[in-house]
Amino acid sequence: DIDCVYEALLNTAVDVDALEASSPLDEGCIKEVIRKTGMKLKWSKLKQDKVRENKDAVRRPPADPALLTPRSPVVTIMGHVDHGKTTLLDKLRQTQVAAGEAGGITQHLGAFLVSLPSGDKITFLDTPGHAAFSAMRARGAHVTDIVILVVAADDGVMKQTVESIRHARDARVPIVLAINKCDKAEADPERVRKELLAYEVVCEDYGGDVQSVDISALTGSNLTALAEATIALAEMLELKADPCGPVEGTVVESFTDKGRGPVTTAIIQRGTLRKGSILVAGKCWAKVRSMFDENGKVLSEACPSMPVGIIGWRDLPSAGEEILEVESETRAREVVDWRKYEQEQEKNKDDLKIIEEKRKEHQEAHRKDRDQYGSLHWKERSYLKYQAKKEHKVFRPKEKVERDSNVLPIIIKGDVDGSVEAILDLVDTYDASHECKLDLVHFGVGDITENDVNLAGTFGGVIYGFNVNASNAIQQSAAKKQVKIKLHKIIYRLVEDLQEELSIRLPCIV
Ligand code: GDP
Repeated sequence: DIDCVYEALLNTAVDVDALEASSPLDEGCIKEVIRKTGMKLKWSKLKQDKVRENKDAVRRPPADPALLTPRSPVVTIMGHVDHGKTTLLDKLRQTQVAAGEAGGITQHLGAFLVSLPSGDKITFLDTPGHAAFSAMRARGAHVTDIVILVVAADDGVMKQTVESIRHARDARVPIVLAINKCDKAEADPERVRKELLAYEVVCEDYGGDVQSVDISALTGSNLTALAEATIALAEMLELKADPCGPVEGTVVESFTDKGRGPVTTAIIQRGTLRKGSILVAGKCWAKVRSMFDENGKVLSEACPSMPVGIIGWRDLPSAGEEILEVESETRAREVVDWRKYEQEQEKNKDDLKIIEEKRKEHQEAHRKDRDQYGSLHWKERSYLKYQAKKEHKVFRPKEKVERDSNVLPIIIKGDVDGSVEAILDLVDTYDASHECKLDLVHFGVGDITENDVNLAGTFGGVIYGFNVNASNAIQQSAAKKQVKIKLHKIIYRLVEDLQEELSIRLPCIV
């Protein structure tokens, strides 16, 4: 009787080592009990502790400064909504295409390289806004060297301008100021420079060290000056990297391509990436099958600061995750296994605590019962105890999740990791201030699936898609289950829509 054995196990299990040594139960039997009773954790922990040690991959110590070579800057564009970040990025990318760099179809890589006539290069991260920036930083990724702060000359310093300054400052990343929309009649760049003094962004005209360039992202005027100011700042920063040895880098974007499988964009930070390299990132690994740039051109190698698309991942790592090269596939598997194991341990910490408490309780009870049952064989003892305790189940009842009626369950799907994260960040900020709570049931990258619809159906939720599709079959299935699917191509529209949906669900106050 397995329950009987369970009781016995709890009574004797001071630890699994001792149990194995002294208990009349064999390993198979213990495992069976553990499987049946949800004590799996304890088993795996003790078992793993015996056989496992930390075999994680880590960054190398800093290189000898003599070995470092100059590298180009990596730039993030930040600023208030509608001040022209996207327009600026598009224009910068176009200049590159116009300059004849295009080899194939432009790829959304999350980053692109601009070559200046001087030969200097700048890498731009092209998910604008501080949501993406802070999401990367939250993972400990330090990719950005310089922030270009875009402020519209007709609008001046706004809420997200101030937030962007704070983010750049927290990350100790210097700012170049781009005063945008200077083509407009009502543009007043001087006013912007004055306003920024209050936030300790002091432009050169005012005796500070922040370069400011008056631009028009729309007409493209003065963008060369902006790029030159960026390069001048980069030179002052003396950005350098070690181009030798195993690669270190950061994932800036990741998505699944229908033909090529999981694809990531990486910014290489150390070493030189080549075909055949074995990489680990988060709980994924890759044998680099091929590399390409934002124009789809195949690359034979990628040096520090270069954005590069990498094919050959076994799974999809997340934006912001650290990439490290390891010596073999075996080593890569070992690292990934270790990380998965560690994550599991983290998740199970609370469960372990509960099991430990249970074990103590039972040991105590066992001591008390010793007199009563002491003379009996362990099997009889356990059986009697089991009978006695049948009333109070020792197993943890599955927690019942009560759902507040005033909750909007949502599912969020996006085209790439970065956009999903940006939406989640926004959702986070809106959620706190509402009477109606958002309940994020599920999120992920890719088109709307049957699974999403089923989840939404179960929870009475709404599916929000950003730059993704829902096939006819999915639409029909959703209609049948009365599930709303809302597809958007502009993040702010999506969030507005979400707010509207929330207000519908607010209780009527009569
Ligand atoms: P973002 O929210 O910061 O990415 O801003 P967008 O790039 O989407 O720009 C918001 C609006 O401002 C769009 O209608 C753009 O066409 C417009 N815009 C952007 N840059 C300029 C500019 O230099 N001059 C003018 N007149 N309009 C601009």
